[in-house]
Amino acid sequence: MVELHGLSKSFGDLEVLSGIDVTVDTGEVVCIIGPSGSGKSTLLRCVNLLEQPSKGSVFVAGVELTHRDVDIDAARRMLGMVFQQFNLFGHLSVLDNVSIAQRKVLRRGKVEAERIAMDNLAKVGVADKASAYPAHLSGGQQQRVAIARALSMNPKVMLFDEPTSALDPELVGDVLGAMRQLAEEGMTMLVVTHEMQFAREVADRVLFMDRGMLIEQGPPSRVIGDPSHERTRTFLARVLDPAHVDE
Ligand code: ADP
Ligand code: MG
Repeated sequence: MVELHGLSKSFGDLEVLSGIDVTVDTGEVVCIIGPSGSGKSTLLRCVNLLEQPSKGSVFVAGVELTHRDVDIDAARRMLGMVFQQFNLFGHLSVLDNVSIAQRKVLRRGKVEAERIAMDNLAKVGVADKASAYPAHLSGGQQQRVAIARALSMNPKVMLFDEPTSALDPELVGDVLGAMRQLAEEGMTMLVVTHEMQFAREVADRVLFMDRGMLIEQGPPSRVIGDPSHERTRTFLARVLDPAHVDE
């Protein structure tokens, strides 16, 4: 479903991704972990071409997004993205937030767009907030609206960039629960997260990145439970026990 071949990205002299090769199968859930600044967000942003890779190629569902003749808007629609900041429109109701791109981009009629929006709001457990405005929702509810908005565009792949990092701890579980359900339904997902318990339970595979390189990958029980690389061990010690300092 997703193939990255020799993906590199530099900002000026700074190389932030160095020759990343990753293949993600249909229905697979891949969690990406690694220290701050290791290139995780840049990797996701290269997958949907929010950043233009410096080298290498990106394929999604057999379409090369990095091909110069690609219809980039059409190609990008295969990818739903959920950010740390939910980026909802404050002046629109929840229902309108989830319907507006369906209507403007996919040209769906109002009735159809709202039906699809309600189905997806129900799926993530916030259907009762359809007529509310984002400011009246908790962060966890807003993030679930953002997930429903992305799902309503019928993406083939969902990209999540630290979707729970901006949330109060007691709101994290509802968002992770919605993501877990999506995974169980067979959605192909690439998830940058610091939630190691989620990665252990939901990911089919975990990638550990450091300084722009893919250091190791494998089933979560191996990469998180018994990492092969010293850098992975150092990172996990810090994440799993924030009091632990060893640099
Ligand atoms: P992570 O998500 O793992 O924390 P990022 O992908 O955000 O890492 O960043 C990787 C590196 O790239 C960092 O050193 C960051 O400062 C740099 N970087 C990211 N975006 C830009 C940009 N638009 N311009 C310059 N440097 C950037
Ligand atoms: Mg990031």
